Amino acid sequence: MSRDPRIVIVGAGVAGLTMAHVLDDNGFTDYQILEKGSDVGGVWHWNRYPGLTCDVPSQIYQFGFAPKADWGRIWATGAEIAEYFRDVADSLHITEHIRFGTEVVSAEWSDTDNEWSITTRDGAAVVADIFICATGVLHNPAIPDIAGLESFTGPVVHTARWDDAVVTDGARIGIIGTGSTGVQVVSALAPAARSVTHFVRSPQWVLWAPMRMRQPAFVSSLLRRAPWLHDRLYDGLLWGSGILADITTRPSWRRRLVQDYARLCLRLQVRDPAIRPTLQPDYEPLCKRQVVSGTYYAAIRQPHVSVVTDGIDRVTPSGIDTADGIHHDLDVIILATGFRAHDYMRPMTITGRGGRALDEVWDDGPRAYRMTAIPDMPNLFTVLGPNSPTGSISLQYSAELTAKYIVGWLHRFRRGELTTVEVTEEATDEFNREVTEATGPTVWNTGCNSWYLTESGAVDLWPFQKSTLTRMLSETVDDHFHIT
Ligand code: NAP
Repeated sequence: MSRDPRIVIVGAGVAGLTMAHVLDDNGFTDYQILEKGSDVGGVWHWNRYPGLTCDVPSQIYQFGFAPKADWGRIWATGAEIAEYFRDVADSLHITEHIRFGTEVVSAEWSDTDNEWSITTRDGAAVVADIFICATGVLHNPAIPDIAGLESFTGPVVHTARWDDAVVTDGARIGIIGTGSTGVQVVSALAPAARSVTHFVRSPQWVLWAPMRMRQPAFVSSLLRRAPWLHDRLYDGLLWGSGILADITTRPSWRRRLVQDYARLCLRLQVRDPAIRPTLQPDYEPLCKRQVVSGTYYAAIRQPHVSVVTDGIDRVTPSGIDTADGIHHDLDVIILATGFRAHDYMRPMTITGRGGRALDEVWDDGPRAYRMTAIPDMPNLFTVLGPNSPTGSISLQYSAELTAKYIVGWLHRFRRGELTTVEVTEEATDEFNREVTEATGPTVWNTGCNSWYLTESGAVDLWPFQKSTLTRMLSETVDDHFHIT
């Protein structure tokens, strides 16, 4: 029997909006997006910390199906990106499919009815034939387990849950964490702070780039007037993202060139030979998610900004004690400590075929077939799920390819050719074996501790080239699936 599937998408960020657009494009209109936040954008909705800027150029960090000619900056601010997401959702009529403030707490597959029953925080249930988790990677803040943190008498704020009521001007600010976020927050808060103490557990390589550069008005006007030129620019940048994949996935002179540039940035910007060794990472550049900043090294050169590399011993009511016995008096503590990146759709409780829980299926860490299908989870797909190319290839491109791949299955559902589709254990294992083998020569595997690594030390990234991503998501191999 042919019929249109009832589709539920969780999340209205890059992945969810892309999925929705591809559904619309293919005439699948019976879908709703459940979004726990009050607006679209995902990470760009939740992250509002001072200095938030995307370190990927805006002309590539945008949806291929919704090009924006007039970005204010080459590297857009978080606020401009959030506004862009809102405009895209509104102009493509996706917003009317979204239920905001609706957190999914569980989803259960029925073997008898062949459908998902999805329960939201307020107790409501939604039934779907197809359940799409577009929940992102960087959405559950990681709160560090530091002794005494709760005893601090001033505000403690995680960057992904920024509180505008926290006063930072004129304050003695402690910032924990040196990833892309920590570096941006230090640069943004230093000018008006009384003091900034940056607690650096592991120094990062920081690539210099003019992050505040404006996109010239004539470029905006040209791209607006010549959409074909805009398309060519986007294609060119997409091709460039393929080069980045190559740099990270296999050793070459191109990788060495970028790494040499990172070392040069440190040498040229941290002239003081007494300080440079403390900021020198003990691992290869690009091993962690590369930090890019045009302002960080200048910020920490200021007399009221200090970098503390001694370990944090404990937090006290008035500040932070470090392992060298020094007490750092503070008014505010900012946690730029990142995310629980491997949770994916959890803490949702997901129960698949035969009552199998996702936690059970993922006992040894998150795994999916080609980033999107999970054994024992019929008619469930992830967009930007495990092994997504967060460290190399354009996420918008990857999300769109995945969405089109899923839609391939939905067409067959609509035509009555299938009721359920579930990837086999064997195909998933085989894919994950290939992934493990391919991570060998990647730079992420060269001896650093990063959020790319799962608890068991596996690299949760896309270790292949962009062409492999395109190929794998452009074909459906029926032998890899149980189809009813
Ligand atoms: P992150 O890269 O995971 O960095 C977390 C930082 O917190 C690390 O320096 C880590 O130190 C430190 N840390 C964690 N627990 C600690 C503890 N108990 N004591 C001391 N230090 C501790 O997180 P993030 O900076 O939020 O960035 C996450 C990702 O978000 C980025 O890699 C990037 O993909 C994305 N992002 C992008 C942009 C952008 O411009 N596009 C901006 C912000 C974030 P160790 O290194 O020693 O573990």
